[in-house]
Amino acid sequence: MLNFDFYNPTRIVFGEGQIAKLRELVPQGARVLMLFGGGSIRANGVYDEVKAALAQHTVFEFGGIEPNPTYETLMEAIALVKAERIDFLLAVGGGSVIDGSKFVAAGALVDGDPWSILEQHAKNVKAALPFGAVLTLPATGSEMNAGAVITRKATLEKFAFGSRHVYPQFSVLDPTKTYTLPARQVGNGIVDAFVHVMEQYLTYPAGAKVQDRFAEGLLSTLVEDGPKALAEPHNYEVRANLMWTATLALNGLIGAGVPHDWATHMVGHELTALYGLDHAQTLAVVLPAMLRVRREDKRAKLLQYAERVWNIVDGGEDERISQAIDRTEAFFRSVGVGTRLPDYQLGAEVIGPVVKALEAHRMVKLGERRDVTPEVSRKVLELCL
Ligand code: NAP
Ligand code: FE
Repeated sequence: MLNFDFYNPTRIVFGEGQIAKLRELVPQGARVLMLFGGGSIRANGVYDEVKAALAQHTVFEFGGIEPNPTYETLMEAIALVKAERIDFLLAVGGGSVIDGSKFVAAGALVDGDPWSILEQHAKNVKAALPFGAVLTLPATGSEMNAGAVITRKATLEKFAFGSRHVYPQFSVLDPTKTYTLPARQVGNGIVDAFVHVMEQYLTYPAGAKVQDRFAEGLLSTLVEDGPKALAEPHNYEVRANLMWTATLALNGLIGAGVPHDWATHMVGHELTALYGLDHAQTLAVVLPAMLRVRREDKRAKLLQYAERVWNIVDGGEDERISQAIDRTEAFFRSVGVGTRLPDYQLGAEVIGPVVKALEAHRMVKLGERRDVTPEVSRKVLELCL
């Protein structure tokens, strides 16, 4: 096992009806800014529940944070924070709203232009406003981690940052609030959580038995309950399992003491920035191709994955590996997420620009062995057609 330093201070308040607890979770006397997205919370009652719970608090609002939250929009929120002397943020929504709130929390206190946080990998983040979250979309794990991904519209850049100052103080997870998700977002969430696990699990053996078994448990749960979440949108147990799985997929637990890949995410970010695909759509396209190109490097873990997640035990090693990758791709398709560029009306014309963007953003030594060069990324993209 590799050395690690595991820290996670986020309190999780889980279950039906728990939004009412905001009354105690949000500090009394705080000047609160509630941040949200494009309106789904107004349609499904979450907005009203949050407002009712905070009836005794001083609450300001900032709506309109878009999927793949932009620097341009978030700078308006930072201006409001300063103008109203806000001292607590409450993010209500999916990963985009929570990520955006992390940027606002850090950006409101940083010296100079907050975009520098992305350019300096958050080294200049010395503090952030405290904040909590109400999660409405199980997918990113942002509700219990210290990462965020921010897009700059003007320059078509999509960068991630992480800082221990931006862990949510608490996150409220009410599975019933996910019933209104459109099928596309349910499928996206399943794929994003699945790929988060794979980025930390499917590398090379590090002797981390518990992390491996946890990871396999999360993957198996997604395989079992993902399709059910689509078929039975009001099945509480299924939605509860999906929600907790997505949180555990990226809260640091399975990632402690193991090598990390993240090449699929980095290539995917460029596809979103340049062509507007949903985050999970990019992952569904890139991951199967990434595994096919790097199957020799990942051989031992692919065999373990084939056996433990897909019960593939017959046939020679190469055959089992091919089957496991094919099953992975078929699983993504079964939850309604296309796995090839043409599913999104894209073709070979995107390969050059994506590789160029990776080079421009210094994404030139990706993966657990730092050997995913732009040439390897090009091969991966060629298999996405
Ligand atoms: P999202 O972008 O937050 O939301 C997608 C859509 O779902 C929005 O249109 C939203 O509508 C809608 N929605 C959310 N909850 C809903 C509900 N309960 N009912 C109906 N509609 C609902 O999706 P996401 O997948 O959670 O977040 C994606 C972002 O997170 C990307 O930028 C990605 O790069 C990033 N990400 C972050 C991490 C991390 O660790 N921080 C990891 C992976 C990805 P409204 O706008 O109207 O609310
Ligand atoms: Fe992701």
